[in-house]
Amino acid sequence: MRVKINLKCTSCGRVNYISSKNKANNQEKIVTNKYCPNERKVTVHQEV
Ligand SMILES: [Zn+2]
Repeated sequence: MRVKINLKCTSCGRVNYISSKNKANNQEKIVTNKYCPNERKVTVHQEV
């Protein structure tokens, strides 16, 4: 089952990306480096 997730910048707290994941295959929270347009740099983004 695929669920929608938001990827939030852990630096400024802004939700920059909306994604989806397969919950059966991916139980843990997603943490990834992504570009934050608010800060104009790559920061750590976490699933919320
Ligand atoms: Zn940010």
